[in-house]
Amino acid sequence: MRESLLGELMDRFCVLPGVGPKSAQRMAMHLLQRERSRGLQLAQVMERAMREIGNCERCRTFTELAICNRCQDAERDGSKLCIVESPSDVMAIDRATEFKGLYFVLMGQLSPLDGIGPAELGLDVLQQRLSATGLEELIIATSSTVEGETTAHYITEMARAVQLPVTRLAQGVPMGGELEFLDGGTLQHAFKGRQQV
Ligand SMILES: [Zn+2]
Repeated sequence: MRESLLGELMDRFCVLPGVGPKSAQRMAMHLLQRERSRGLQLAQVMERAMREIGNCERCRTFTELAICNRCQDAERDGSKLCIVESPSDVMAIDRATEFKGLYFVLMGQLSPLDGIGPAELGLDVLQQRLSATGLEELIIATSSTVEGETTAHYITEMARAVQLPVTRLAQGVPMGGELEFLDGGTLQHAFKGRQQV
């Protein structure tokens, strides 16, 4: 028997995190019954986003531009560079803190067993940023998982090699907690109380 289009639509929704067959069915039915035109808009923006969004050449965050808006913003303070694991962390720090420096997004954590080494995290690009003039503080905001700590240690050594001061977020970030799931107050506190390592 040939699989129905409806069946395929429901299957495709299961690609989303936390979405199982039941939720997928509810989403598909909802769009078909009540939201056809918005469903089409969703399909169109999904298509464009999947094709056009790449990574910023400077900070690696998601953007459809060669250099993202944040990196192009002359108002931001180029003397501070904050290292995070994901674009969601950038958004969380922007929301919760007064930080107006620049970011570098690793897009992951060092995890040799999964084949994620320095090259996969763009650390060669970061190396060039570290040696650039005008940089005065490197803020490492990786998560407190084992991989996050390993990554932080590696980057701290890179910064030491060029005598760049490194700070890390203060206590308050729960062990194994990932930055993007922290509440704003805790993140703000951790960020403000960052300490030199
Ligand atoms: Zn950028």
